[in-house]
Amino acid sequence: MVHSSLTPNGKRPLVIAGPCSAESREQLLETCERLARTGMVDLLRAGLWKPRTRPDSFEGVGDRGLEWLREARERTGLPVVTEVASSRHVEGVLHHGLDGIWIGARTTVNPFLVQEIAEAVAGSRLQVLIKNPMHPDVELWAGAVERFLKVGVPITRLALVHRGFSTSNHWPYRNDPMWHLAFDMRRRFPSLPLICDPSHIAGDRALLLEVAQRAANLNFDGLIIESHRSPDEALSDARQQITPETLSRLLQSVSWPSQCSLDAEYLRTLAACRSEIDQLDAEIFDLLSRRMKVADRIGRVKRENDVMILQSDRWAEVVKRIVARSSELRLSEHFLRTVLDAIHNESIEHQGEVMRNE
Ligand code: PEP
Ligand code: MN
Repeated sequence: MVHSSLTPNGKRPLVIAGPCSAESREQLLETCERLARTGMVDLLRAGLWKPRTRPDSFEGVGDRGLEWLREARERTGLPVVTEVASSRHVEGVLHHGLDGIWIGARTTVNPFLVQEIAEAVAGSRLQVLIKNPMHPDVELWAGAVERFLKVGVPITRLALVHRGFSTSNHWPYRNDPMWHLAFDMRRRFPSLPLICDPSHIAGDRALLLEVAQRAANLNFDGLIIESHRSPDEALSDARQQITPETLSRLLQSVSWPSQCSLDAEYLRTLAACRSEIDQLDAEIFDLLSRRMKVADRIGRVKRENDVMILQSDRWAEVVKRIVARSSELRLSEHFLRTVLDAIHNESIEHQGEVMRNE
C-alpha cells in the first residue's frame, strides 16, 4: 500500500511534467502555465544544473533559474521540483522555497553525493524523488533510499523514479527498461510511490505512449514526462519532449487498470490461473532437480575416466538447438539464453561438487 505525501488522496496516476531544462524565464513560465492549464499535472519539473555527458553541451542555467522556478510555482499554484547533485544545490532549492528535488541517475551511482544531499535535506519538508542509477544495480538504488531514511527523512516524502538503465541491449529505447528491477524495488519498499519516466526510457517522443501504457499496465503509481513549449528547439533532450497539449492527449489515451476488482468471474479466473502457475512452477523445479541429478552422474563418469568437466562444444550445440526453437516456444532468445546459462552454471557446480567429494 502506497502512503505518500506526494499522493495524499491516493491519486493515480500522479503526473509530473515540465521541460528537461529551464532555458529562459519565458520558456519556463510559458511551458508551466500551459501544463497547469491541462488540469492533469500534479507537480512541475525542470532541470537547472544539467549533468551532461559531453562538456560542450548545454549545462543548464544554474542558480539564476531558481527564481524562475519559484515564479512558476507562484503563477500555477503547483509544486515544483528540480534535480540536485550537491548540498549547495539543495540549499538553493530550500532558500527559494521550492517543494522538492530529484536525484538524477548519474548521482544515484555516487554514495558520497547521495549522503551529502540526504544530510542537506534532513529536517526540511522537501519531497525527494530518487531515480534509478545509470547501470542496473538495484543495491545502489536501495542504498540511496536507505541513506535518506537513515538521516531521518520520513518515508512518506520519498518516491522512486524508474528511468531505465544504460545497457548494450536498449533498442528500440534510449535506456533499457528492465522492468523487473523496478519491481525488485517495489518489493523492498512497498510503501514508496513508483513513478515511471517514459521520456528517459524511450528517448523518442514517438515511443512515449507505449512506455507509459506499459507502466500503467504494470501498476506504476505515476509518470514523469518532459514537456517543452516548442520541443524541437529544446536545448537538451529535444527528441523526447512534447508540448503540454500533446502531453494532455497522451495522458488521456493511457488507460490505468484499476488495482483490483471484485468481479466474481475475474476473481475465479485469476485464482484458477494462479493455481495453474503454482503447479507448473513446482513441475519446472522438479524437472530441474532431476536434470541436476543426471549432471551428477555425468560428473561421476567424467571423474572415473579423468575427463574435463567443461566441454564447450557440446554445450554450444545444446544452446543452438534450444535457441532455434525460440519462435515455436514463443520465448525470446534472450530469455532462453539467460535460463540456459543459469542451468549450465548450476550443472557445472554440481559436477564440480561430485568430483571434489568422491
Ligand atoms: C532529467 O530528468 O532531465 C535527467 C537528467 O534524468 P536522468 O538522471 O534520468 O538522466
Ligand atoms: Mn532530460
